[in-house]
Amino acid sequence: MLLMIPGPVEVSPAVVEAFSGPPPGHLAPHVIDAHGRALERLRELFLAGPASQPFAVPGSGTIAMEMAVANLVEAGDQVIVVNTGYFSDRISEMARRRGADVREVRAAPGDVPAPDDLERAFADGEASVVFVTHVDTSTGVRVDPEPICRRARETNALTVFDGVCATGAERFEMENWGADVYLTASQKAIGLPPGLALMVASPEAIEKRHRLRDEVPMALDWDQWLPIMQAYEDRRPSYFSTPATNHIMALDVSLGEILQGGMEAVFQRHQSAAEAMRRAWASMGLELLSSPGVTANTMSAVKYPDGSGPLILETARENGVALAGGLYPGLKQTYFRVGHMGYSTTRPDHLEKTVRAVAAGLDACGLEVDADAAVDALDERG
Ligand SMILES: *Cc1c(COP(=O)(O)O)cnc(C)c1O
Repeated sequence: MLLMIPGPVEVSPAVVEAFSGPPPGHLAPHVIDAHGRALERLRELFLAGPASQPFAVPGSGTIAMEMAVANLVEAGDQVIVVNTGYFSDRISEMARRRGADVREVRAAPGDVPAPDDLERAFADGEASVVFVTHVDTSTGVRVDPEPICRRARETNALTVFDGVCATGAERFEMENWGADVYLTASQKAIGLPPGLALMVASPEAIEKRHRLRDEVPMALDWDQWLPIMQAYEDRRPSYFSTPATNHIMALDVSLGEILQGGMEAVFQRHQSAAEAMRRAWASMGLELLSSPGVTANTMSAVKYPDGSGPLILETARENGVALAGGLYPGLKQTYFRVGHMGYSTTRPDHLEKTVRAVAAGLDACGLEVDADAAVDALDERG
């Protein structure tokens, strides 16, 4: 089954090999070396500055989100959530549970918030942290991080970007833009099995942790993990909680593969793959949930055309391709989602098989489409 959902995604043969086999001990010299190098490579992947602090801990995207919230938010804090969908709702709730006063700046489904609405949230200068979902996986919308980073710095607010459906695919310049936390999980564009929570924090973010009066849950506490991460970067053994050793070995390999041609090539490849998929959708008369100017490169949220529905997904599965249903509350019956990130962007055959599977699904619904023309549209042969 070809896994073309917005995570987990297909992974490279080298990653499968690095991940497979008996678990190595976390204190084995080759594991310590891989761990240290993987942390260094995270900085490169995030285009983060030398003074930033990478973390790789066992967990999921949700754990990474919780870790960022737990270390930066305490009772009484004012925070802004730029809400573009399902995962923004989740981080709002996390901040609320820490006792924060949450201001949500909401967008219509498939769009980003209006600049005026965002400006109103910033206007009194009271917010201490701004949370943004870089690509919202429920709508396929991408927010532009740079102006938000700039505005937040003017008001001394820290910025946290959930990059779970974006990191390693969409442009993110952590140092140049002055973002404070960029977080992700292993199973999306990073190209690993699920199981790791990953993030890089700016010195200002780490300093905010030190100023917190509220206690931070121990397993999520940057202060617990920081000496461990520093030890691995110094290639010294260290222990707080057992690293996911197979994942760490695979992370080192995957980041090595991603960084090989440089990040510009990574961003370009994802953009090209996304444009190819969008040409194929258009050639079959399909429309996206997301507005054109804010559509992500990592996935497509495709509206079911009239007369079709989940039979498209069932048929695609019978054709060997797994796709995902909708996720946005209230709208999830009206569209489906296709992931196109990571390893599959290096595999034109994956994209072609996916387009053919969707064409078969439309055909099963009695809608006539030209599958060959859609495949030709992928590489502009059409
Ligand atoms: C997938 C995803 C998450 C959640 O990650 P889990 O590993 O499922 O907990 C969070 N945010 C975004 C943007 C995602 O795409």
